[in-house]
Amino acid sequence: MNGEAEPDPDTNLGAVFRRLIRNTGPISLAQFMGESNARYYSSRDPIGRGGDFVTAPEISQMFGELIGLWLADVWIRAGREEPVLYVELGPGRGTLAKDALRAGARYGFAPEVHFVEASQALREVQEQAVPGATWHSDLSTVPQDAPLLLVANEFLDALPVRQLVRAAEGWRERMVALAGEEFVFAAGRQPMDAAVPDEWRDAPQGTLLETSPGAAAVAYEIAGRLADQGGAALVIDYGSAELRPGSTLQAVRAHEKVDPFAAPGEADLTAHVDFATLAKIAQARGVRHLGTVGQGRWLQALGIDARAEALAKRAPHYAQEIEAARHRLVADDQMGTLFKVAALAAPGWPDGVGFEEA
Ligand code: SAH
Repeated sequence: MNGEAEPDPDTNLGAVFRRLIRNTGPISLAQFMGESNARYYSSRDPIGRGGDFVTAPEISQMFGELIGLWLADVWIRAGREEPVLYVELGPGRGTLAKDALRAGARYGFAPEVHFVEASQALREVQEQAVPGATWHSDLSTVPQDAPLLLVANEFLDALPVRQLVRAAEGWRERMVALAGEEFVFAAGRQPMDAAVPDEWRDAPQGTLLETSPGAAAVAYEIAGRLADQGGAALVIDYGSAELRPGSTLQAVRAHEKVDPFAAPGEADLTAHVDFATLAKIAQARGVRHLGTVGQGRWLQALGIDARAEALAKRAPHYAQEIEAARHRLVADDQMGTLFKVAALAAPGWPDGVGFEEA
């Protein structure tokens, strides 16, 4: 034996996709992304310095704490209803939940904890962080008899997107095909004009639109639950407040951007979240969209600057680290502007802090 072993063709996802495309023709980008991410998340803990990417709750405890205070504040002003559910979608290492629940507990917020998590590997990490949580594969099994305070940080960006491209003959779905052994994009054969909003129908050739059926379905479900059960939701992710043309698909591995086709199932595939569409979906179900604001502005409205100062006073040795983390979370050229915080509130529930001018 010399060098590395060849990947097993039965379990190597690239080989599986190649076989499928050769046998049945190009597959949709949504299928490629969905299966790649399912494989990716089920087989590792990708979050943190030693992994592929770092998320806000892993940068500083302040992130989860301020989210916990936001939720507790809303719950208190709504009348401290009990029981109440803390529901988190894609909790990663469980750090956000742990920090949020610790901060909320100081104000009597002691919810039942329900995690929606597909990855067995991450469920195990989450159980260490938050013992006593209940796990679900999707929202459908989360209890229906209590208000929910729901959080989703960097969850929707991992759901599969579909891309539509304006080809010479009209709109087509962007498919993944093969050129030799390489994955390449190719326009599908089926006309897709009916799937495109009216105002985009006659866009110039080459225009690309990206939609996330998965994110839309989750927004629809969250809004329905809020309308029926009461509560509020915070959705945090990178994306823009308006629908814009172009692809935002990206792959990250070991903190570097890589080719999304290079190693399916071995890199994190994400796309920007279309907050405008999410807000419309929620409003159509009778839920209030309190606003979508930059993460930096929102954390500052919640008092992250004072919190960082207090933490630094208590632990002067870490003052520089605390300041660096604060800066990374709020600065415009860091996570402060690209990341957005959107809030939804059930009818009769109060507005949360940080959306006053949104
Ligand atoms: N919120 C965490 C982790 C973000 S990574 C943080 O901020 O650190 C995305 C998370 O969503 C992971 O926990 C991943 O396993 C989970 N996930 C991705 N796709 C999923 C799906 N379709 N269903 C359930 N969980 C999913």
